[in-house]
Amino acid sequence: MDTTSFTKKTPGGEANEPALTPPPVEATQTAFTKKPKLAGGKSKKRDIPEGLWTKCPTCEAMIFDKELDENLKVCPKCGHHFPIGARERIHSLVETCTFEEMDAGMTSVDVLRFKGVSTYKSKLEQYQKNTTLKDAVVTGLGKIGPHRLALGVMDFSFLGGSMGSVVGEKLTRLIERATEKEMPAVIISSSGGARMYEGMFSLMQMAKTSAALAYHAQHRLPYISVLTHPTTAGVMASYASLGDLILAEPGAMIGFAGPRVIKDTTQAELPPDFQTAEFLLNHGLIDAILPRKEMKTRLIEYLNFLTAGKKTAATS
Ligand SMILES: [Zn+2]
Repeated sequence: MDTTSFTKKTPGGEANEPALTPPPVEATQTAFTKKPKLAGGKSKKRDIPEGLWTKCPTCEAMIFDKELDENLKVCPKCGHHFPIGARERIHSLVETCTFEEMDAGMTSVDVLRFKGVSTYKSKLEQYQKNTTLKDAVVTGLGKIGPHRLALGVMDFSFLGGSMGSVVGEKLTRLIERATEKEMPAVIISSSGGARMYEGMFSLMQMAKTSAALAYHAQHRLPYISVLTHPTTAGVMASYASLGDLILAEPGAMIGFAGPRVIKDTTQAELPPDFQTAEFLLNHGLIDAILPRKEMKTRLIEYLNFLTAGKKTAATS
């Protein structure tokens, strides 16, 4: 009997002793000393998985963040493509030290003095701080394999990749530079459409970028458009759908109006994979689907083909 009571006491150790003594003062003291310890331990346990693991929305696997980064933000289990930042993507495509960024400091002006739930100015400041980007696109000249080209990459994390004056102007300048230097142009899109904070000024970018691309095409220079999740509305209705080749990442949502609007307007039942890259490939809008890890090699292959026999500054 004695031995069993001893063994029962030892695991509890100190905690058993105050429990035997009823005075309230000591009891509260022990409670105070216990509580912070427990709370600290719990929050630590919660913090670790949140910061280090990401749950895949498709296969629900828990992926180690470092593994996800090394895999270009693609789920290693099922191939789900997570969003990737503009700079990270450029880094994954362009040869080391060949990227010369253009118009890096260009920022939007609040022409309309837009005031909604918050002002446009405060939104811009907030996103510039959070993303360390000046706007939703990064543009510049660089080299992919043997090809010198003009590359524009949109970033959905900056105000939903919306196209305002800066996105339009940066891309137009990029395309114009490509025309001038006789280079192919590649634009990787990811956007919710025109930026409502700039009203008409954002819609004008559709015409401006399209005109610059028409001029680029007149010089018989190739333009490749890559659509990533999601590419919609004003961006899809302008430069994103004007590629000599239109490529997309697997599972990307691509369209103009949202499916709910189309369903309400047409009063028709929409197919389950409506507005996905796969659906649009089957219906001829997209030329190919490129898994992110094959993006670079496939782009080189396409550029080899598109620039074959053409003496341009693109290959050197
Ligand atoms: Zn997955």
